[in-house]
Amino acid sequence: MKSHGETRKNTVVDVTKIYNGIVGEINLSFSLEIEEGSTDDYVFEKAPQVKAKIFEKARGRDENESYVALSVEVTGDYTCQCARCAKEVSEHLCVSAEYGVTRNLNDDSDEYVEAPEGLLDVEELARTLFYLELPQRVLCKDDCQGLCPVCGVDLNLSTCSCKQVKKGKGLEGLKKLLDNYEE
Ligand SMILES: [Zn+2]
Ligand SMILES: [Zn+2]
Repeated sequence: MKSHGETRKNTVVDVTKIYNGIVGEINLSFSLEIEEGSTDDYVFEKAPQVKAKIFEKARGRDENESYVALSVEVTGDYTCQCARCAKEVSEHLCVSAEYGVTRNLNDDSDEYVEAPEGLLDVEELARTLFYLELPQRVLCKDDCQGLCPVCGVDLNLSTCSCKQVKKGKGLEGLKKLLDNYEE
């Protein structure tokens, strides 16, 4: 997907305004650009949408004590292939999370995000959040029968005469087929 060629990213938010009490909250709404090659198995017709709010959740006596939080929601529709039968599947994903915002993150934390020098890269966080929730593999239905590893027939639609072979070596073939799809 092409970049819009913007020089300054308005998805990087100066949170010091909230720490200093100048503004109570900052709201953002933008499309998430999908980096080329990052989600080869998933096709997005339209960029996922991000809604984010950075706000003072609890007031402290000075700026170091204010508890600033980020709530973010990403929604997107995509198509991908069933991991067993390769049929095209349409999926909808909605991910939301809330984090505390800190200017110095000492440890890796799931609860806090870092805003170095008061700058919070909301797009980067939204992207990470969304990508992490994309499923490793998708099935067209829970009991998808997949393709026959011998003749390749879609076993959801018909049967084939390879059945007896499948019990032995056939399963190995099926496993290889699945492994290939998962790569
Ligand atoms: Zn399937
Ligand atoms: Zn077959």
